[in-house]
Amino acid sequence: MSVLVVGTTALDSIKTPKSENPRLLGGSASHAAVAASFFAPTKLLGVVGGDFPKPYLRLYERHGICTRGLERVKGGQTFHWHGEYEVNMNNRRTLNTVLGVIENWSPKLPGDYETTPFVLLANISPQIQNSVLDQLSKPKFVIADTMDLWMNIALPELLRLLPRIDCLVLNDSEARQLVEDDNSVTALAKIHKLGPRYVIIKKGEHGSILSGPKGLFVAPAFPLGKVVDPTGAGDSFVGGLLGFLAAQKTGSIETNLRRAIVHGSVVASFCCEGFGLNRTTKTTKAEIRFRVRELEKAARF
Ligand code: AMP
Repeated sequence: MSVLVVGTTALDSIKTPKSENPRLLGGSASHAAVAASFFAPTKLLGVVGGDFPKPYLRLYERHGICTRGLERVKGGQTFHWHGEYEVNMNNRRTLNTVLGVIENWSPKLPGDYETTPFVLLANISPQIQNSVLDQLSKPKFVIADTMDLWMNIALPELLRLLPRIDCLVLNDSEARQLVEDDNSVTALAKIHKLGPRYVIIKKGEHGSILSGPKGLFVAPAFPLGKVVDPTGAGDSFVGGLLGFLAAQKTGSIETNLRRAIVHGSVVASFCCEGFGLNRTTKTTKAEIRFRVRELEKAARF
């Protein structure tokens, strides 16, 4: 079954202690859609300006991603994020964000997008996430990602979203902020009370925890010897996860979610090995299968 991904389609300028990479293809929806496309037919909903490079459009197409929902605003400026990493790649700061065409964007779903069964509301304002949900007809499973910024500037809209989705994905500091609780286990219980049946807390290189009706699942991250650029790892994780889930022909969501999380972790590991989408786009399905098996061996006891 197919996947719809909405989020930012961006230009990212990324600085690490070793190098600087201006105007890479980035954005939550770009990373998530490419990750999902390894497993399931994927549709992209986003907006870019006239400055969006054509080779980036071709990259989506090479991955078989439907771009009929990618609006192009002539003369407009594409969302542009500038970030800088410290020597410890877990520490990143945003140097500048130019909203450009996202600022006044109100998404319109092409007709055939409305019935997509698996939907990823990747990181973007909860107003936009709610407006996409308003246009969908009975999706089977909806995951939303969010970030601290929206808790700071759009909390009521985020709280309105939570009862409308099946699964919320957020990182551990964001979970602490959302429910004011330092303990992941009690934070998970509090987030369920805000609406979603499933909650996934991401802990970067330490993996993630899923909480659902059947209890907890503790998922490892794929251990990497070298991280080049972790930008988009969270988006690749959730995109890979939902793509895998959408591709399953048997089993319930509950039973397939655990394997889906492991596949998401593996796609995220490839994302970290190159700048922007450079490594992810070179990844093969065989490489993904190999790392999934390695991770299964490493985590079994
Ligand atoms: P991650 O590393 O998974 O947190 O995602 C990084 C991606 O999020 C980058 O490609 C950015 O373009 C994108 N991004 C940065 N700030 C925002 C924002 N405020 N809203 C949505 N996407 C953003």
